[in-house]
Amino acid sequence: MNSPPDDIDLYEVLGVSKDASKAEIKKGYHKAALSSHPDKAPEEEREAADIKFKAVSQAYEILSDDDMREAYDLHGMAAFDKSQGPGGMPGGGVDLDDILAQMFGQGMGGMGGMGGMPGMGGAGRGGPRVPKRGADEEQEYEISLEELYKGKTTRFSSTKNVVCSHCKGTGGKDKAKPKTCDTCKGQGRQTKLQQVGPGLVSPVTVNCNVCNGLGQFFNEKNRCKRCKGVRTVQQKKVLELYIPPGSREGEQIKLVGEGDQLPDQEPGDIVFNLVEEAHETFDRAGADLSADLNITLAEALTGFKRVVLTHLDGRGISLEIPPGQVLQPEQVLKVEGEGMPIKKSSDKGDLFLITKIEFPKDGWFKDPTKISQLRDLLPGAPPAIEVASGEVDEVLADTDASLEDFGAGSDDPRAGAEWEDDGGEAGGAQCAQQ
Ligand SMILES: [Zn+2]
Ligand SMILES: [Zn+2]
Repeated sequence: MNSPPDDIDLYEVLGVSKDASKAEIKKGYHKAALSSHPDKAPEEEREAADIKFKAVSQAYEILSDDDMREAYDLHGMAAFDKSQGPGGMPGGGVDLDDILAQMFGQGMGGMGGMGGMPGMGGAGRGGPRVPKRGADEEQEYEISLEELYKGKTTRFSSTKNVVCSHCKGTGGKDKAKPKTCDTCKGQGRQTKLQQVGPGLVSPVTVNCNVCNGLGQFFNEKNRCKRCKGVRTVQQKKVLELYIPPGSREGEQIKLVGEGDQLPDQEPGDIVFNLVEEAHETFDRAGADLSADLNITLAEALTGFKRVVLTHLDGRGISLEIPPGQVLQPEQVLKVEGEGMPIKKSSDKGDLFLITKIEFPKDGWFKDPTKISQLRDLLPGAPPAIEVASGEVDEVLADTDASLEDFGAGSDDPRAGAEWEDDGGEAGGAQCAQQ
């Protein structure tokens, strides 16, 4: 209990030598973690095993990271916490985030009025432990394909924490001096030592609950009137979000520095992750669009010139297929330059139209005599099938059947819809159904 934290030998915890390779450290960790795993320990030793296990994890976290290992080799555990006053009280868990924050998160810049010079590698400075930069605030933003085509600017009001301008983020009245927190001696953190095994002690740092980790505070009468010592106030701000034409699902729009503010910290960004809404008419892949080209059987056979669809910007798209050119079911037509805009250019992707032919319904003709005329008009005689046996049966067909029933109830993998997926025949079946 009385050993200073520097006495911890992380290499010893993992049972490896000081010049162990990364692989050896990993191996040592696995071995030590396995032997100290709390689940394997008998009931009465479980607590001790738990502590040992955490120490093993912590040792591995530090030694497996090149930067942290170097810091540890140079300065021992002091690299992670310079305040070594013997706390003596066990409690709390090993918090790696705290260690990382101490190593990397702490601001190096001179901070007015905070006292305490930055120590080596940023470790050991008193005062609040604040990451250099605030966290980004991410959220999804649903947007229609029309808006992605045209681009969109939208304004919204956001409530965020800003540094109190009255006290400039100190939390105190003008000229008032903050009181150094006695509990943590201005560190903002309390270091407690925790026994992790025979002769092994691990430092544990926790936020000081008296000063909320700031290391100092103002007496009530000295607190800033506007923020009441909190150092930030809530502010409503109207923000503008611009989504350029051609933006895609998954892209991020960043409002740099619009996240919550904290004193002595660069605010994070507000980040919008674009989510493209499904569209009734168009499918999109990259800068290309696709849509159904719905035409009648007459149009498929005789051509047409008409508006076939309304584009995302409201324009009608007119297409001409001259007489004599026949469109097949599922035929693909490419219209160059009618896809989505391409960002930072005046180019656009292409539009792929897929022919869907609407066949007439049963009994569509009014004059039965016209049927034979139509038959004569259309090319080709029916295919002649030679029946070598000379035996022919006349059958009845249900014209409203489905391939779902093909092999239904059997465990044959060729049964049902899977058979349809093979393509080929499926197209013909669909046409017959229409
Ligand atoms: Zn204030
Ligand atoms: Zn404190």
